[in-house]
Amino acid sequence: MKKEPVKIKERDKLSRARDFEEVVLGFSEGEALEEASRCLQCKDPKCIAGCPVGIDIKAFIGQLTKKDYDGAYATIRQKSNFPSICGRVCPAEYQCRKACVFTKKGEPFASQQAINIHFLERFIGDHGAKKGLHLKASGGSKYKGVKVAVVGSGPAGLCCAGELARQGIKVVIFEGLHKTGGVLRYGIPPFRLPRKILDSEINSLKELGVEIHLNTIIGKAKTIDELFGEGFSAIFLGLGAGIPSFLGVPGENLCNVYSANEFLTRVNLMNAHLFPVSHTPINIGRHIVVIGGGNTAMDAARVAIRLQHLAGVPPDTTICYRRTEVEMPARRLEIEHAKEEGVKFDFLVKPEEFSGDEKGFVGKMCSSRCELGEPDSSGRRRPVVIPDSHFEVDCDLAVIAVGLGANKILTSVTPQLKTDKYGDVTVDPQTMETSIKGVFAGGDIVGGEGTVIEAMGMAKKAASAILDYLDRKSKD
Ligand code: FAD
Ligand code: SF4
Repeated sequence: MKKEPVKIKERDKLSRARDFEEVVLGFSEGEALEEASRCLQCKDPKCIAGCPVGIDIKAFIGQLTKKDYDGAYATIRQKSNFPSICGRVCPAEYQCRKACVFTKKGEPFASQQAINIHFLERFIGDHGAKKGLHLKASGGSKYKGVKVAVVGSGPAGLCCAGELARQGIKVVIFEGLHKTGGVLRYGIPPFRLPRKILDSEINSLKELGVEIHLNTIIGKAKTIDELFGEGFSAIFLGLGAGIPSFLGVPGENLCNVYSANEFLTRVNLMNAHLFPVSHTPINIGRHIVVIGGGNTAMDAARVAIRLQHLAGVPPDTTICYRRTEVEMPARRLEIEHAKEEGVKFDFLVKPEEFSGDEKGFVGKMCSSRCELGEPDSSGRRRPVVIPDSHFEVDCDLAVIAVGLGANKILTSVTPQLKTDKYGDVTVDPQTMETSIKGVFAGGDIVGGEGTVIEAMGMAKKAASAILDYLDRKSKD
């Protein structure tokens, strides 16, 4: 008889929208075993090819069913450094779960029946973290005295740092912000990724001897040449893509029109929801509009509705997206969670203009209606504006979440570092080496899908190339 998927436990939708505690509670041991027992252990497991870093999913689920949790952790760790994080944030419905044999051909996302691989990964990741199975140094290192600099402490930087430190290399991370984690801390809210999970991974790196210098922007505080001058043998750039894109419509510069980056950073990094206990304030609107359809838009809307609840404002937060729900790139789980928490959705909307009051604060958003046309280069159907379809909504706070691009602080002062037309750093895809010898890069700064697991995959590849580079250098 076909077994039904085990439903993951989540916090009650009414109470959770009033705080920042984790929403998804994870599997108990019994639930993980039951879900794992649904896996068919396929002869030709398609799920593995669906994982951007090729985790041996069949093997780790097999180990899980035999209660060999340490073994399952080791299997995942061969490819992914932070299973507790990826088990919480990976868009599995577009990746491994979509490739699982239970998903029918042609379905746009994983079917309900597909094995809940990400929740099993989370169970194993949390087991490993509880048991202290994090990265260990390999011992007796040939790299004694060798120093490598890592710029940026997002998933790419952290992953590369861990891979190198476990080989006995002295790794120093330089981070521009006052806290580590990159988007994992300032972008993804704690109700999706609790900070204790992130902190535990970062502490494990410190235990390996990784040194972290905060508030240090490379390109301002020091240059690449100066880092080499300080004795670093190689440099990894995990700069991310931290510059927000805007719509380019009139009125976007009015007060209370935020970029999602600023909005989320104020809350996630600076605790603006605790103002005046924290030093950073945030304005809270009565009619909040979030523009976009990705994870950033979902996070911004779910943060916004929490702020309204906490401030005692009747919740009224709407996501406006120019296509329909099917084309939304956000994780399906986040879309469901946003709906459950009371976020409203208005599809096929193209904002045209914001208008404000005499003090310069936004008050209304004027938009056009769209319909779907032919597919564009992304394969999704293109939104086409319907003539004379203008309409206006009240909007005293708007959050723009329509994409991010490369931060040029470092690249603009390093002309030898080749970039493409988007400002992304150009690398050799085999080695992740940049146009400067000994300087490697990975994660969002080199483009790609823009996911945590992909950033880590690139960092792992770069770390392995850095080891080869150091080996060659030592023979010169
Ligand atoms: P980042 O995480 O951006 O980290 C880069 C770090 O480098 C930052 O800390 C920055 O301050 C630092 N830095 C930059 N320049 C310098 C410099 N010159 N000197 C010193 N430090 C510097 N992906 C998923 O897989 N699942 C999700 O659910 C998901 N949700 C997301 C939600 C939001 C709101 C956002 C914005 C992104 C989300 N993503 C998600 C995408 C994912 O977070 C990114 O792809 C990933 O964080 C990229 O990692 P990175 O290390 O390349 O860059
Ligand atoms: Fe298990 Fe699905 Fe992978 Fe088959 S494709 S091994 S059922 S997870």
